[in-house]
Amino acid sequence: MSAPQGLAILGSTGSIGRSTLSVVALHPERFRVAVLGAHSSWQVIVQQALKFHVDTIVLVDPKAAALGQAALRDLGSSVRVESGAEALAHAAAGADVDVVMAAIVGAAGLESTLAAVRAAKRVLLANKEALVMAGQLLMDEVRRAGAQLIPIDSEHNAIFQCMPAPYLPGEVARGVIRVILTASGGPFRCTDGASLARVTPDEACAHPKWKMGRKISVDSATLMNKGLEVIEATLLFGLAEPQVDVIVHPQSVVHSLVEYADGSMLAQLGAPDMRTPIAQALAWPERFASGVQSLNLAEIGQLGFEPPDHGRFPSLGLCRSAARAGGTAPALLNAANEVAVQAFLDRRLNFTAIATVIDKVLQRLDSSPVKALGDVLDADSAARRLATALIELEPGAFA
Ligand code: NAD
Ligand code: MG
Repeated sequence: MSAPQGLAILGSTGSIGRSTLSVVALHPERFRVAVLGAHSSWQVIVQQALKFHVDTIVLVDPKAAALGQAALRDLGSSVRVESGAEALAHAAAGADVDVVMAAIVGAAGLESTLAAVRAAKRVLLANKEALVMAGQLLMDEVRRAGAQLIPIDSEHNAIFQCMPAPYLPGEVARGVIRVILTASGGPFRCTDGASLARVTPDEACAHPKWKMGRKISVDSATLMNKGLEVIEATLLFGLAEPQVDVIVHPQSVVHSLVEYADGSMLAQLGAPDMRTPIAQALAWPERFASGVQSLNLAEIGQLGFEPPDHGRFPSLGLCRSAARAGGTAPALLNAANEVAVQAFLDRRLNFTAIATVIDKVLQRLDSSPVKALGDVLDADSAARRLATALIELEPGAFA
């Protein structure tokens, strides 16, 4: 039997990180957890480190790292504790790591994801924001370094499974004419437009099918998540924006489809549980158990499909415009969204104003070509400054 693979889980304390560890726990002979990384939840990461006999933990927040280190020292543990974003990127690229689960939320995950790609790791990509913002640049690095990229996002993982082998990152597979991303429709699928302005963060985060972190839950409620996924699909599979369709499928059983030139459509089905795509990516090209229950199709009975409502959910259209504009437009969009979603979660912005803020940022800041990573980071900062100013300097403008 081959030696266990070294695994780094970036964002180990989050929803994807915890699901990854629960799959890994089923296959101790296959993986050695070398690195865990998170922002500040030191109690959780310390527990994880002890349970999985981890070599190194990285907490980006130095105060949390000091607390974690003290707790481990008191327990007589030899787990190495580091702090800072640079240390996290360095650990992800370490020689003891073969596979990296990139599961940090938002632009904060870009540096470590890029480091893992440049070090030619097998990168399991959950952190869609890194791909949306850095776009072609990240895909070029994947090809240049010879890294493997396996999508974890359930829709893209479904497409990955329905594509002909071998998967060549960013290249359109022969015979494929279109992909169809399914969307649950989120918690407000049936909410009338007038009521949307008054929904609360807790209502927005009560997703009907998936249990996820708060940022992606809000993105699912605005359909921004599906829009980010349209951009993600164009990059991962080398498709033009009009070749990526979206259909609302409230049961979340069909996770996405690939259409071929002969009219065949291949779909991947499964329970709405991220442990399935995580296990698929961890085991690939083999298969192993994920801990997810089999689907009972007779119990589900019916599968429904309907078009998305662009009127109530304008974010999807904003993403399509950014995909067509290219250059720094997706980075501007992503940064404005991150700022607006945080303001909504902090109750400084109402739900429908999230799209208004993003729209204003995209209207006021021109997209420019991306020649280097600095162009992406500059666009990200400029959009964050403008979105923050729009929300804070014009109090009440969006309430
Ligand atoms: P989460 O909020 O539950 O967890 C986020 C993780 O990122 C935590 O471990 C946190 O400590 C870490 N983190 C946050 N800010 C950080 C920073 N500045 N530096 C370092 N670490 C930081 O989020 P999640 O739901 O697990 O989502 C993670 C990523 O996976 C997102 O990009 C999301 O879009 C994607 N994704 C999630 C799901 C899901 O079901 N949860 C599905 C598809 C894709
Ligand atoms: Mg998804």
